[in-house]
Amino acid sequence: MNKIVIIGSGFSGTLTAIQLMQHQTDIMLDITLVERAKFGRGIAYSTPFAQHLLNVPAGKMSCFPNEPEHFLNWLQNKNPDSQETDFVSRQRFGDYLNHCLNEAEQARPATAHFQKIHQEAIAIQPSGESYAIALEDGSSLSADRVVLALGNSPNAIPNFPKSPFYQSARFIANPWLTEKITSIPPEADLFIIGTGLTMVDKVLQLQAQNHRGKIIALSRRGLLPQAHDLTCKPLIEPFGKHPTPSVRELFRQFRAILAKGENNWRSLVDGLRPQTQQLWQDLPEPEKERFLRHVRPYWESHRHRMPPEIAGQMEQFIETRQLEILAGRILAYQESDNRVEVIIQPRKQAESICLQVDYVLNCSGSGANFLQRTDALVVNLIKNGLIVPDRLGMGLNCLPNGCLLNREGAASNLYTLGPPMKGLLWESTAVPEIRQQAKTLAETLVNSLASQNRMAQAGHTAR
Ligand SMILES: Cc1cc2nc3c(=O)[nH]c(=O)nc-3n(C[C@H](O)[C@H](O)[C@H](O)COP(=O)(O)OP(=O)(O)OC[C@H]3O[C@@H](n4cnc5c(N)ncnc54)[C@H](O)[C@@H]3O)c2cc1C
Repeated sequence: MNKIVIIGSGFSGTLTAIQLMQHQTDIMLDITLVERAKFGRGIAYSTPFAQHLLNVPAGKMSCFPNEPEHFLNWLQNKNPDSQETDFVSRQRFGDYLNHCLNEAEQARPATAHFQKIHQEAIAIQPSGESYAIALEDGSSLSADRVVLALGNSPNAIPNFPKSPFYQSARFIANPWLTEKITSIPPEADLFIIGTGLTMVDKVLQLQAQNHRGKIIALSRRGLLPQAHDLTCKPLIEPFGKHPTPSVRELFRQFRAILAKGENNWRSLVDGLRPQTQQLWQDLPEPEKERFLRHVRPYWESHRHRMPPEIAGQMEQFIETRQLEILAGRILAYQESDNRVEVIIQPRKQAESICLQVDYVLNCSGSGANFLQRTDALVVNLIKNGLIVPDRLGMGLNCLPNGCLLNREGAASNLYTLGPPMKGLLWESTAVPEIRQQAKTLAETLVNSLASQNRMAQAGHTAR
């Protein structure tokens, strides 16, 4: 039996399992999906709050690249009034993902065995061409191929200022722990680090629990995510087939296209999407660093947009002054018995200001630096050189097909997809990219096992 163990059942791992079960092959497959939390949800789709909407309209959220209307059809089956332009709840998308997993399990061929194991994987030990995977309960699994669908890393804690305050009960490091947010008293004043989609998510959650205290959110430039406008259609290859791999040149072209006045920036940003991975891979390393230093915040706020109705709600919170967005940087924290002072340096201002709040919430965005991860499996894999964080601190060293490279730079039988490939591909964290990666990865895994079987068979016959 060809054993494939997938660790992590967020969107990436679940879709890989589905694609493997749907793959037409003669070889026997033994597929195991290991998850420490809920199956088929991950961080994004396990929210219990109906106010948390997808940031992408329903028509673009199918699990299957060759059936673009699959999600919409599923929605319309439940509610015939659903439209492709609807922004539905993330909870609902999690239901859909679980439906797809159950359906694939029931329809799988007799050659595919499938099981789910509710455990945390804590270590992996290579043994010849296969692996032994240690689970938290002391048991272990063997595998010929392992998929590390480990997803988004916890939000990075700002490394400046280095402060003992980050150990305080008034500091909430992980905004995805629902109970941490529900335990915030409604009158508490909050300081949020970050003004991106995570901040938007948490403000909505606080509103849903009738929060009355003041919320101040800060980022270096104070940029909020832009709103979608579904009337804008993506441009086709706006930079031509082979754009010059230089940030300055790309930026110049971007402005030149907009200066003509015929096109909206949304059409331009969306038009670049099919080319983004190639563009990123073509950029020399110093150019990638330049992009991260100078362009990233602007790119993120224009590329990762929010539904118009959410943008409307955020505007309202700002107008009523319940939410204030600031640009600047944190200089220090001073905690007293019952409050914390956050001293900030507003952008382009000489004087620092001191804010008095009850809690500080870290919404600095999903971390991608594996060196900052503290989960046992990642620590074990890095220590033993089986995986290597990439130089930009945005994922793991791997090949475009997801094959992970070890400390010696050699390809292994460990694979990944989704967020850990961000350093290699830049655009690797959303549904359209991950669903394609899962399909290709399933093919890669089956082909490599089939070829290993053929080689073993040939060796056996020769003997
Ligand atoms: C809040 C939010 C909203 C988003 N909204 C959209 C959207 O509207 N549209 C869109 O296209 N994209 C969206 N995305 C992006 C995208 O869909 C997600 O990033 C994607 O779901 C990533 O899935 P993943 O499986 O790779 O990672 P994750 O969702 O992080 O899942 C990883 C899973 O692995 C498990 N795991 C990790 N380590 C272990 C271990 N050692 N043992 C066992 N289990 C383990 C975790 O428990 C987790 O369930 C959103 C992302 C976020 C965070």
